[in-house]
Amino acid sequence: MRDKNKHKKRRSRNQEFLVVTYSFLALFLCLSGYICYFIAYQSSDFITSSYNKRASALSTTTIRGDIFAADGTVLATSSVDENGEETREYPTGELFSHVVGYYYNGRSGLEKDANYILLDSHEDYLEQFQYTLQGKKVQGDSIVTTLDTNIQQIAFNDMETKNAAVIAMDPETGKILCMLSKPYFNPNTLKENWDLVVNDAYSSKLMNRCTQGLYAPGSTFKIVTALAYLRQGGSLDDTFTCSGSKDVNGLTFHCYNGTAHGSMDLRKAFAKSCNVTFGTIGMGLDLDDYRKTADNLLFNQDLPVQMNNYNTSSFDVDHNTASDLVFQTAFGQGHTLVTPLHMAMIVSAIANDGVLMKPYLIDHSQNMQGILVKHFSPEKAKTLMTTEEAAQLQELMRGVVTSGTATALNSEMYDAYGKTGTAEFDDSKTDAHSWFVGYATNGNKQLAIAVIVEDAERGSSMSIPVVKDIFDYYFSY
Ligand SMILES: [Zn+2]
Repeated sequence: MRDKNKHKKRRSRNQEFLVVTYSFLALFLCLSGYICYFIAYQSSDFITSSYNKRASALSTTTIRGDIFAADGTVLATSSVDENGEETREYPTGELFSHVVGYYYNGRSGLEKDANYILLDSHEDYLEQFQYTLQGKKVQGDSIVTTLDTNIQQIAFNDMETKNAAVIAMDPETGKILCMLSKPYFNPNTLKENWDLVVNDAYSSKLMNRCTQGLYAPGSTFKIVTALAYLRQGGSLDDTFTCSGSKDVNGLTFHCYNGTAHGSMDLRKAFAKSCNVTFGTIGMGLDLDDYRKTADNLLFNQDLPVQMNNYNTSSFDVDHNTASDLVFQTAFGQGHTLVTPLHMAMIVSAIANDGVLMKPYLIDHSQNMQGILVKHFSPEKAKTLMTTEEAAQLQELMRGVVTSGTATALNSEMYDAYGKTGTAEFDDSKTDAHSWFVGYATNGNKQLAIAVIVEDAERGSSMSIPVVKDIFDYYFSY
């Protein structure tokens, strides 16, 4: 009996021991699993967040990596003095201010989006270990962007003192070659001038107008209306008549300068940017389908882009919208708001036969020896329209250059396609923003572009010269 009891006790003690062991083992596995998961999936989000302790901890052990243009021009770098004090420097000054961003009082642009990469280090492990033993910081990885210094410089020079946005991307890859926003700020002196820059409410200097600027699309929106019309059975050969103005719900809408465009097909109405024709087309559309077409083109939703800081465009017509508002929305006024980035994406998809490639700025990251760490390949984002629809819009946009409002873009080096626009932004109607959206191709390569020049003299095509200069440069090599 006594032996039996002893046996029982020992067995139950063994069981307790096993329970404890297995519990610890399970706990250990859970923790290991979570750590692996965190490293694999969560850490980059965690470190990317502007204000967190882990990132600041990393910045005490890592020298923030450099940012390069595609040609190797240094856009941002860090110098370290004898006391280990790190200073962020931007050798190109204002030229890339918004797209590269700042690293003070929070972050913006690539300084924000690539924070994790810049604070990560793929330096040789032995060297990292040595640095750590010596109490030195290791060198963070660098990023090489898709940005073209020459194109950025052309845009910068041409815009002079204007408030403007210029974005250019390769429709076949989604690579962004130029992203210029004016007015700019100097990232090297942002710390000293912070209050001055932030309090300048009128010009919103810190805002990247390419990605965050919301503008009325003006006549560039005729691209969307034309697509909705074609989808609802319309044809390029359909004819329209314009007497220069039209009354809707007691309001009178005019064509530009009151020009009577007479009788014309859709091609000519698009090339001459006839408001009466497009307003009339709009009123004849199934409005819910019109809305669907706009949504297909990424209105009212997040954009498939590599960047984090951008605004979404809005289009609010549906079957409840009053006909006068439908009329003006269809030719580009009304409540619609777009960003230059979004317009560049729409024309890119048209250039690329309907397929939108995901716009991106980071080509690859590399360690301090220049050895590749991660390469970002072109990625298809979405098919925005069929090849046939893209071909019809291409034909309309080509007419704008051959016989419409952008004949200044005719060239022997390339074929340009596009749509101009002027967007009124106040009731005085004396000033307007000048738009151009479009692309060019020489058979080997393409470049899509969206430009807006704010406060341009009404009717002037102030956005065209910069487009011409960029195309002339891009297709010269
Ligand atoms: Zn007209």
